[in-house]
Amino acid sequence: MQRRDFFTRVFGGLAIMKLDAAHAQTSATGPVVERANSGLPHSGKVLAAIQPHSDDIALICAGTIAKLIREGYTGYMIRATNDDMGDDVGEPGSVGENVLRNEREVAEQSRVLGLKRDFSLNYSNHRMSDISRNELICRLIFLFRFLKADTVFCYDPWAHDEENPDHYVLGHCVEAACWMAGRVHDYPEQLATGLEARAVTDKYYYARHPNINRIVDISGTVEKKIDANICNVAKGPGGHHGSKLRAELARQGKKLPLLGDDDLTADRNYIREFVLAGDRELGKKYGLEYAEAFHYVGPAAAAIGGTGSRVGDYVKQHAVPLK
Ligand SMILES: [Zn+2]
Repeated sequence: MQRRDFFTRVFGGLAIMKLDAAHAQTSATGPVVERANSGLPHSGKVLAAIQPHSDDIALICAGTIAKLIREGYTGYMIRATNDDMGDDVGEPGSVGENVLRNEREVAEQSRVLGLKRDFSLNYSNHRMSDISRNELICRLIFLFRFLKADTVFCYDPWAHDEENPDHYVLGHCVEAACWMAGRVHDYPEQLATGLEARAVTDKYYYARHPNINRIVDISGTVEKKIDANICNVAKGPGGHHGSKLRAELARQGKKLPLLGDDDLTADRNYIREFVLAGDRELGKKYGLEYAEAFHYVGPAAAAIGGTGSRVGDYVKQHAVPLK
């Protein structure tokens, strides 16, 4: 995530609303609203939370990931870069310090979100334009087959107005890997080790300006999203910005009631009020407390003969019993 992203989403969060409103008006049905489920309807399913940088998941879709984990998914984090460039919103550090701090913070972020473990692919930050895309696709295919991934979260490869090459290069490689992982002639040596070919057909694509067709109610997992953003001290607008502001105001002989009487309260309430302002505005539009927005691509459209496909719908309408 970049500074421009954060200020666009938080202080100019209405830009998201405007785009979403425009989309909803042009769509006959509007976005699907995915609400909290009771019980464990996703038990046995696996998700991969894929991000180029340490702060992307926390800022944009941690609430939805926490929701799916709560509803039974097993989850894994995959981070493409080593975040060595740091970030001008987080705390300053040298290149080496950035790598180590972000590595530790992503491990902690994975823990608080309930993910089983994280994988770091260790590409250089801001330098993914000229990596071997085939190498990255192959690594992702291996992980999807190994983890038996059903669902992925990643940057939308088709989103507009994206300035960071790490975002769109990773998005395109994930899109390709999801499809190729199901094909037996792609990297058959992986199958010889015992892995199975399996495509990933359930995709939650996030972006700065997503082409929205799904809204997820994250009201029940807002505290988890705050947990994830507190982990990002080296990078991102969460971390300890609240306690720093509280200390700065105290030096001036002032206080904000919002920031409470201790550092942890200050950090949490700062994130809730400012970092999640866009989620709150989006939720209000759909009668929800907090929400996240996605370009969602579901399995029904991909399955030949499945509901929603041309063949599946034809069979449902015209099939007759054998005599
Ligand atoms: Zn990013």
